[in-house]
Amino acid sequence: MAKDPVCGMEVTEKDAQRMTHIGHETYYFCSKACQEQFELKEGIRKEEPGKKWWQRILKETKGEPPKCH
Ligand SMILES: [Zn+2]
Repeated sequence: MAKDPVCGMEVTEKDAQRMTHIGHETYYFCSKACQEQFELKEGIRKEEPGKKWWQRILKETKGEPPKCH
């Protein structure tokens, strides 16, 4: 039995929706929301506005890079 470090819910390792490894430690989460919150707090996950911007452009152009000229 593991404990979700974000919401404190008991999570069974094999039923855990999400897990994150930090060094040799493994953290289990009840949901993606809890995992994201934890990773942001620990600095593992960085917001990537640049990447999101690029993905949005690619989606708008149906996967083609925009032409600049
Ligand atoms: Zn949780």
